[in-house]
Amino acid sequence: MTFIDKNKPILVTGASGYIASWVIKLLIEQGYSVHGTVRNLSNKEKTAHLAEFVNHGKLTLFEADLLEEGSFKEAMENCELVIHTASPFFVQGIKNAKEQLIQPAVEGTTNVLDTVNEISSVKRVVLTSSIAAIYGDAIDIKNTNTGVFDEKDWNTTSTEHHQPYSLSKTLAEMEGWKLVNEQERWDLVVINPGFVMGPSLSKRTDSTSVDFILSMVNGKFSMGVPDFTFAFVDVRDVAQAHIQAGILEEAEGRHILVNEILNTSEIIVLLQKAFGNKYNLPKRILPKFLMYLFGPSQDFSWKYLKRNLGISYNFDNSYSKENLKIAYRPIAETFEEHIDQLEKDGIIKNTGSK
Ligand code: NAP
Repeated sequence: MTFIDKNKPILVTGASGYIASWVIKLLIEQGYSVHGTVRNLSNKEKTAHLAEFVNHGKLTLFEADLLEEGSFKEAMENCELVIHTASPFFVQGIKNAKEQLIQPAVEGTTNVLDTVNEISSVKRVVLTSSIAAIYGDAIDIKNTNTGVFDEKDWNTTSTEHHQPYSLSKTLAEMEGWKLVNEQERWDLVVINPGFVMGPSLSKRTDSTSVDFILSMVNGKFSMGVPDFTFAFVDVRDVAQAHIQAGILEEAEGRHILVNEILNTSEIIVLLQKAFGNKYNLPKRILPKFLMYLFGPSQDFSWKYLKRNLGISYNFDNSYSKENLKIAYRPIAETFEEHIDQLEKDGIIKNTGSK
């Protein structure tokens, strides 16, 4: 049981990020004050959407880098709760997985938690892990006893050369559990979100979540789309889960945050229902042989295709509902609101009529 004082600031690392920005907004709306870290304070474009919170004195921004030892110290002073979201999140265009993904994720977690060990006010850390630390490829579902992934499962199949982002999340979460077990002052609660969708507070388009939704509506797949399965969750549900994980005294363990599991055909149907011909949606599923032919030039290795293409899987989200009291939003609503936000912000243009 850990009691967090509502009057103490809460540290959120990676404050400018897609998920962290929602965590900060909801924390402030719920009466908390926040310390946020960003990599570069002088990059005002990345933090423009947080300016109103800074101006109202509810958010203080600090500079910190995952790879710089001790850089989170100043931001952490006087905090009882640390929400560590910062970690590189991209799955394509990877040139050096170790440098770009694994080191920042793992060493970053070590750095943040080493500082937690030094700052005596900290009582709890909430770590943003991922379902990528639960499983590596869709085919891993065959190794479960129940045909459903749950919090007892760990990703054992990702490597530096195959699904390196998933490896980075797995190793970072393992590091978190290792370090929490070496002391008794603070506890650790882990959030394992699926693929996060929903309106973004910033106009940035470089987040993997925003990039996915753009690719579904901007014609990238108009000739056809690969048949993959995705486990989706709304960004606002993920943000609230971080807060519940932080403030509920009895919160403990890992939490799968997934609402609906859809394959590509189901996503197309959902988007057609909501938007008709308004956008340049994918028209068909690409046949497997075409994927094997052209996939490798699009960053889909044969190994990846063999282990993921056309394979469905499932998650048990009951623990997040019971332990964190999360009531999930319907994902159709999430997609609609995300696309509406991107259109309102001028990031996507409609190409047809509803
Ligand atoms: P995002 O918008 O790309 O945010 C990632 C954040 O990490 C950014 O604030 C980024 O800072 C920061 N970061 C990256 N490298 C850093 C470094 N070396 N030093 C300091 N900060 C660094 O992505 P997101 O979707 O919000 O992801 C946030 C967390 O959720 C990550 O841990 C990710 O693995 C996890 N997650 C995301 C999803 C999803 O579908 N979005 C699903 C499961 C888990 P800059 O702004 O300076 O780049």
